[in-house]
Amino acid sequence: MIVEPNGVIGILGGGQLGRMLALAAARLGLRAHVYTPDENAPAADVAHALTIGSYTDAERLKAFGEVVNVVTYEFENVPAETVDILAARRVPVAPGARALAVAQDRLVEKDFVNSIGARTARYYPVDDLASLAEGLQKIGRPAILKTRRLGYDGKGQTTIAAADGDLARAWEEANKKAWAEIGARPAILEGFIDFTMEISVIGARGREGSIRCYDVSRNVHQGGILRRSQVPSEAPAAATAEAAAVTTRMLTELDYVGVIGVEFFVLKDGGVLVNEFAPRVHNSGHWTIDACAVSQFEQHIRAIAGWPLGDPARHSDCVMENLIGEEAGRWRDLSGEANACIHLYGKREALPGRKMGHVTRISPRK
Ligand code: AMP
Repeated sequence: MIVEPNGVIGILGGGQLGRMLALAAARLGLRAHVYTPDENAPAADVAHALTIGSYTDAERLKAFGEVVNVVTYEFENVPAETVDILAARRVPVAPGARALAVAQDRLVEKDFVNSIGARTARYYPVDDLASLAEGLQKIGRPAILKTRRLGYDGKGQTTIAAADGDLARAWEEANKKAWAEIGARPAILEGFIDFTMEISVIGARGREGSIRCYDVSRNVHQGGILRRSQVPSEAPAAATAEAAAVTTRMLTELDYVGVIGVEFFVLKDGGVLVNEFAPRVHNSGHWTIDACAVSQFEQHIRAIAGWPLGDPARHSDCVMENLIGEEAGRWRDLSGEANACIHLYGKREALPGRKMGHVTRISPRK
């Protein structure tokens, strides 16, 4: 399946990732049709066509499916029903339903990663207070309790601290509090990893099975939100090689088409654990717009449209910094800074924690 120039790429979701995908599609002479429930979607400003509708509105989705050549998505919480509705009309969706299903559930995701010979933190499924206590027995403290589904940017998770004393009652209270904090929903308990750094790999697989990975980036999070990505990562060579190898295996095993973002913890011995993967373009790959000839966004469009993948080589060193909430108010100073590439997403309101834009500072590759 090849979408030729002037063809239409359907994008589910209208946030900043959809916006940057639409811009990349336009550069290749393709048109983006964005489907979103949000009237003020950042992607709408730069799309060829826009459908406002809910992700379960079968009529609207069918009409959307009729006017696009392929459908992709910019967030992993697309309901399975949405993909089913499109699949029933034989609309190609990439990445496919399996990658989406695995990524949507932290337990299924961890089982998958371990099944292909890669490693994760120790984990234990939690469905109630009894299984939380069991999990803590097995995994120990500190640990992190995360909802299995619908978590993002550090939401839906809470840390269970190392016990201050050995009072069973204090533990019980802490467990109850943690369970309430994540909304008493199906969850997963993870061992707390004392990592030396966090890294990620942005990889891509084309329709004919070719695979390309960008250089590994080093990522710093604050409050669960990505603060900064830096390339080169300065991670040990063994860690970057293993991370790229694991990403390649994941792409193959999932029979994946498109760009994937895989996050890793680097351990003291240079080994890596998979934290999670996103079946889409990823915030830790925004640097590729300004430091590579072919960005992750263009690479994703190339992959799903059946074009040859582009060269992921990097021409610059860089540090990407997210502009969160009021930080986007610095646009005037930033836009006057030499070698700073500023990107603003057109969001109307600068709420705390909202990603409003990013800036990538580039310097010649050393
Ligand atoms: P997540 O939403 O699972 O990617 O978690 C957001 C951030 O929380 C990660 O990027 C880490 O900085 C931190 N984190 C998540 N899980 C763990 C863990 N098991 N051990 C230590 N830190 C973690």
